[in-house]
Amino acid sequence: MNSSDVKVLSRLGRSVWVNSEDWERSTLEVVTAVSLLDLPEERAAERAAGLLLGRARRAEVSDATPDERDLWMSPFYRLPVDQRLILAALHGAGWSYLRLSRILGISIEEVERLAWNARIQLTLPAVFPAALGKMGASCPEYDPSRPWTQRFLDDEIASKRDLLFIQSHLMTCDSCQRTLEKSRGAYYEAEKRVPSGQEGDSLAQSLDQILVRNPMRTRTLAEEFFVGFRAFLKRRDIRWVVILSVLAFSYWWFQKR
Ligand SMILES: [Zn+2]
Repeated sequence: MNSSDVKVLSRLGRSVWVNSEDWERSTLEVVTAVSLLDLPEERAAERAAGLLLGRARRAEVSDATPDERDLWMSPFYRLPVDQRLILAALHGAGWSYLRLSRILGISIEEVERLAWNARIQLTLPAVFPAALGKMGASCPEYDPSRPWTQRFLDDEIASKRDLLFIQSHLMTCDSCQRTLEKSRGAYYEAEKRVPSGQEGDSLAQSLDQILVRNPMRTRTLAEEFFVGFRAFLKRRDIRWVVILSVLAFSYWWFQKR
């Protein structure tokens, strides 16, 4: 696992635990355990995020320390744990809906619904984005539980064609422009309430040192490739194919001269 993944995981850990002892212990255990699994890098980060979430779902909520009480009462920590992780991953790490759907074991649409619900919860009553202008026949379909405006702001419009359609539509449709502005208001209002998790960075640094010292740490994709390739060449049948090809090539080359 590389340093930036460790940093993200430590921030995600912070979003699921308010008690800093629980957070440090669980993040340390999960990151160390996953780094022993020898998974390719992207899968390792996902697996670790899934384990962090699983533990937080099962955990007894420990009491917040007096300094953490304000944090505990903040709107963000009143959200269900899955929704906290989703927002922390979207705003803090730019993870995709697809990746989150794999981590949570739900569909992409469900990720969108949970994200939108969490954002609305965080922004109530500051900006309520549900009131919309009139929708024309050519307007993109607006599903209030998972609006296209959120996909647009998360940079998750599925195809280039859809994105071009929306961009050109926005130039001519006032009502969609207003809808997008309202959603944008909610989006950034929610973002302000998602903890940046920067305090997690010192934990990430110590985790990183532990992982560097650990000879079993997860291989990068390039290392994974070479290990796989070496194993492939070691196969007896493959070795024969290689030897015969070298012989055939040398024969051809000498003939040519
Ligand atoms: Zn429109």
